[in-house]
Amino acid sequence: MTATLIDGKAFAANVRARVATHVARIKEAQGVTPGLAVVLVGDDPASEVYVRSKGKQTVEVGMHSYEHKLPADTSEADLLALIEQLNGDKAVHGILVQLPLPKHLNESLVINAIDPAKDVDGFHISNVGLLGTGQKSMVPCTPLGCLMMLRDHLGELSGKDAVVIGRSNIVGKPMAQLLLGDSCTVTIAHSRTKDLAEVVKRADIVVAAVGRANFVQGDWVKPGATVIDVGINRIPAPEKGEGKTRLVGDVDFEAVKEVAGAITPVPGGVGPMTIACLLANTLTACCRSHGLAEPEGLTA
Ligand code: NAP
Repeated sequence: MTATLIDGKAFAANVRARVATHVARIKEAQGVTPGLAVVLVGDDPASEVYVRSKGKQTVEVGMHSYEHKLPADTSEADLLALIEQLNGDKAVHGILVQLPLPKHLNESLVINAIDPAKDVDGFHISNVGLLGTGQKSMVPCTPLGCLMMLRDHLGELSGKDAVVIGRSNIVGKPMAQLLLGDSCTVTIAHSRTKDLAEVVKRADIVVAAVGRANFVQGDWVKPGATVIDVGINRIPAPEKGEGKTRLVGDVDFEAVKEVAGAITPVPGGVGPMTIACLLANTLTACCRSHGLAEPEGLTA
């Protein structure tokens, strides 16, 4: 292996420790405890695991965690009423509605009902607009985590060629905005991009957010490039036993690690950073709402 491994698990632990230190400081000095409310509608097992993990880590960094579990047949009016109540609750600085929502609920209506200042997922249309115009916003957690790791590994990003593969609203587009904000020359690739291998080959920074197992090939990557693998794909792993599976990213790790300068593994790369950045965003939202100095290095 020639590439340096970017250890997202260790990086996320460091982010959580910095959040915890700052939380302890504002509790002591200002008597303020950040609070995160997570709303889960229905009983999707994967979402339940995420929500449990978010709640546990929220408490571990010294914040208050408020979990609201609603039945799958909750009406839009009842969900909007809960969001309204959380918007007005001074103990709640961050609100996260776990996605996906059951089909009968209008996701964008629900997300846009959240007070943008408490929108710690950064999905509210106001935050999307603020990020797109280079203004202070709440930044989506996964791309924020990628940006933090890139800055830490590369230092200055200005002038670098970056290719983001994927144009989703939750990863690809905000990732591209953040890289542009750091003065990279950004290309967004997607399923209609021609000669993707050639496009990727130009890049000093490759962020893969495609949702296809082992998609980015070794011979697509410029030697020495930094590769951030956002993908989480479950594939069969017969070597572990019948019916067993394992997680892989959107990058062919075994091949790309021989060419890249640095790479994030899956698991243990971007994944752990997402919840760490959710906690960082909750702290940031709390500091902003109380007019306190924001924690350094934990926002875009
Ligand atoms: P998504 O909404 O499905 O978007 C996938 C993007 O990939 C689309 O823009 C699509 O292009 C593009 N794409 C699909 N096939 C392609 C191809 N053959 N060539 C080039 N581009 C192609 O996915 P997402 O929500 O952004 O998530 C992407 C991956 O990241 C998934 O594996 C997801 O599980 C993972 N993820 C991880 C975290 C984390 O915490 N680590 C968080 C969020 C997501 P079109 O727009 O043209 O269809």
